[in-house]
Amino acid sequence: MARPATIRLGVIGWPVAHSRSPAIHNAALDGVGLAHWRYQLLPVPPALLAETVAALPAVGFRGVNVTIPHKRPALALAKAATPRARAIGAANTLVFGEHGAEADNTDAPALIAQLPVEVPGAVVLVLGAGGSARAAAWALLDAGAAEVRIWNRTPERAAALAAELGGTPVRAAQPADILVNCTAAGLEEPQRSFVELPIQEQDVSSYGCVVDFVYGADETALVRAARARGIPATDGLELLVAQGALSFERFTGRPAPIEAMRAAAGAPVSSS
Ligand code: NDP
Repeated sequence: MARPATIRLGVIGWPVAHSRSPAIHNAALDGVGLAHWRYQLLPVPPALLAETVAALPAVGFRGVNVTIPHKRPALALAKAATPRARAIGAANTLVFGEHGAEADNTDAPALIAQLPVEVPGAVVLVLGAGGSARAAAWALLDAGAAEVRIWNRTPERAAALAAELGGTPVRAAQPADILVNCTAAGLEEPQRSFVELPIQEQDVSSYGCVVDFVYGADETALVRAARARGIPATDGLELLVAQGALSFERFTGRPAPIEAMRAAAGAPVSSS
């Protein structure tokens, strides 16, 4: 009997070499017995995004995750989008169907599912104004946060995001129930992630819980500082698994094997 053609998935980003998504998704595919599916890195510069996305279905791709810096352009390229992707204005998941790509944003529900505190009535500080900050701010407001304050290195972007989604732009960090870091600070050197943020290590005690979208080989300085002070912290790998599980279910129609995905997320990145 002929072997079935390989069905492909992947993660599009630039840079994307640091991504754990291939390890996580390939473990999930193996876990549910989809032996002829493969998930791969897709390093694609911005100038090639549109033509690459258009070409993927014909070479066997069922869907892709989308990461830095393509989340907003990916939504614009999609033929259809879920209401939350449209409201957020950014996509982290494209599913290729008969009628073109459908965009979704699984960062938003993953964040809410992973929060260790109740959101309704909470005051939140979001750091950043890029694709993941958009998802975080929208998700928190949608889930009933009383106030979502948004700080960004480039303040005009925080102001624009707040005006669009309903948050409050701030120029300095103040205490809050939830702190969410959605900046790329620390992407290359996670242990130095305070350098360009408006909070210092000791300020972490002013927050009821901490979520860091950033992840690397080690804990980020932000997550380490929170845990050292007994403050509940969700790290970027936990979020990655949670959003990846939701994307996996959209790609395959199968329940995601969360434990296999979690184990793969903690494993060292393969050099092959
Ligand atoms: P974007 O490129 O859309 O946004 C980047 C944001 O980071 C902007 O607010 C930018 O500020 C800020 N920034 C970049 N460098 C620095 C710096 N050195 N100091 C302070 N601020 C900085 O990226 P995304 O929102 O898509 O991703 C942000 C981070 O979150 C990345 O590290 C990404 O890997 C991670 N991520 C993790 C996910 C997970 O599942 N764990 C999911 C999504 C993202 P400015 O406007 O001033 O340029």
